[in-house]
Amino acid sequence: MTREAAGVPGDDDGDSVVYDLDADCTADDVERNQPYLAEINGIVDYGVFVDLSESVSGLVHESVLEGTYAVGDELVVELETVRDNGDLAFEPADIDVEGDEYTVEGISHDYTLTGTNRLESSIGEQIHVEGEVVQVKQTGGPTIFHITDEFGVVPCAAFEEAGVRAYPQVEVGDVVRVTGTPEHREGSVQIEVDGLSKLEGEIAEEARERLDTALEERAEPHDVDSLIDWPAFEKLRPNLEEVATLLRRTVLEGRPIRVRHHADGDGMCAAVPVQIALERFIADVHEDENAPQHLIKRLPAKAPFYEMEDATRDLNFALEDREKHGQQLPLLLMLDNGSTAEDVPAYEALTHYDIPIVAIDHHHPDPDAVGDLLDAHVNPYLHDEDYRITTGMLCVELARMIYPDITDELRHVPAVAGLSDRSKADALDDYIELAADEGYDEDRLQDVSEALDYAAFWLRYNSGDQLIQDLLQIDSDDEQRHRELISFFANRAREEVDEQLDAAMSHLEHEDLDNGAHLYRIDVENYAHRFTYPAPGKTTGEIHDRKIEETGDPVITVGYGPDFAVLRSDGVRLDIPQMVSELEDEVPGGGVSGGGHLVVGSIKFVKGKREDVIDALVEKMEEAEIDEALSSAAPIDDD
Ligand code: MN
Repeated sequence: MTREAAGVPGDDDGDSVVYDLDADCTADDVERNQPYLAEINGIVDYGVFVDLSESVSGLVHESVLEGTYAVGDELVVELETVRDNGDLAFEPADIDVEGDEYTVEGISHDYTLTGTNRLESSIGEQIHVEGEVVQVKQTGGPTIFHITDEFGVVPCAAFEEAGVRAYPQVEVGDVVRVTGTPEHREGSVQIEVDGLSKLEGEIAEEARERLDTALEERAEPHDVDSLIDWPAFEKLRPNLEEVATLLRRTVLEGRPIRVRHHADGDGMCAAVPVQIALERFIADVHEDENAPQHLIKRLPAKAPFYEMEDATRDLNFALEDREKHGQQLPLLLMLDNGSTAEDVPAYEALTHYDIPIVAIDHHHPDPDAVGDLLDAHVNPYLHDEDYRITTGMLCVELARMIYPDITDELRHVPAVAGLSDRSKADALDDYIELAADEGYDEDRLQDVSEALDYAAFWLRYNSGDQLIQDLLQIDSDDEQRHRELISFFANRAREEVDEQLDAAMSHLEHEDLDNGAHLYRIDVENYAHRFTYPAPGKTTGEIHDRKIEETGDPVITVGYGPDFAVLRSDGVRLDIPQMVSELEDEVPGGGVSGGGHLVVGSIKFVKGKREDVIDALVEKMEEAEIDEALSSAAPIDDD
């Protein structure tokens, strides 16, 4: 019990002290032989009822009363007896009330807090927890308040009436004090709430300060040594650590995370390790064992940028989750995607809400366009490096900073990422060596890469969580099945590519450009199978690769359909975004849009203007300079 001076009516020289219980005091705070300020709340034949606090009240029997009383009168009482049924009886205290010769001291309830790290040892006992509300979910039964303190997040069930919101004045973001009993529930620990109150004023500030300090410490990423020695990579480390901090903080705050990643091999090598690292960290932080599946969702993005379709869907899901599950709006994590001007409209759609955006990418960025929209942006081009540091390589280190125990499962992943994007980094050899120590020779790594690409195609808009984990052999230990599964998928992929090219190659149109490059054109609409693997982008890419190998010269390949063209080039200094913006002006009514990277990209136009657009395009390619040094100076996106 704590006592503090609360007010001094009358003279200050009185010897007597009268105690005034705070509203939240319980019978435990009442001591014998001490005077308490009470208020009369009812009068009956046999005495008066008095309140000492919200939950402390009792009878003063008429046999010990003198004079007349009215409801609302103050009375100074002391505890006479506690009856067997718990009812309290009081009697007037022996004190000179009329003379006002006493000092009033406030009594606040004794809340000894129990940290959420000690719930297991307090099962079945009433405890007090102080923390911030991070989610309020109304079920058909109780209201579940998810509350975080310095140690973790615990669900607290408060029951008002089935399906009725308990404590409607308490919202996400409030700092509260919960009195309740921890119980086991479906494999998790949950606190059954007896009382829940919003902290105000100084007490709330103090609690918030304590929580913030603890949160900042716990958000610190782990200091891990990189898997390989790579000075170029080290330039990006501070940036990655910043993102690791932000993501850990997001988990500690109970905010959901939505991951959107490029639907290719590198994109999956980036997204899956981060997803699993975050899931494990969420499981450590949250008592609710379902928290990992509710708080992180990974979805592929088909385009090499954040499409408006994806953004509106993401936004709608986020708003629905807030409405249905009382969740906070998510943080959006863009991986192997999200650095260009094409991402801007979708990002802008999200800025109308509190949705932080983080992008980790190695596609040529447009920091002027996206800089202000991103809360963090990691991209090798921002540090005078380039696509050779792939997003998968970056994100394996990020995953380790978030949850270092995952390291042993990830050593082969950067090599898969590098091979998928055909990174020409010298460091790729070190990664391949690292993978070899784990039993992955280069053929097996290539198979994983092909299998991922093939699976991504058929999964379409599905994340394929389990299958992709099995293909990447993360959080999965059946090695024999892994070898069989990836070679099955990889062989299927190769056979289907061969079938596609068998038909397409004889329809290839060749032209020697004035600048010395070969130009190959293929009508993928009429001379390739549609709606099957490989898609037009990859079909064009495969043709392109065969022609580079065959000729050894600079090559440009254009695969076109009725209203789109896919471009691939090697050894030619193209600037596709620039070409697209020129075409917009030069072909009026062409409806030209698109872009991508300098030498790999795609263009859309209206069907009726296809000839004009492609003719203009070829003219530009003819003007382009030959530049061996630029060979493949971009990630390979086969969409
Ligand atoms: Mn990539």
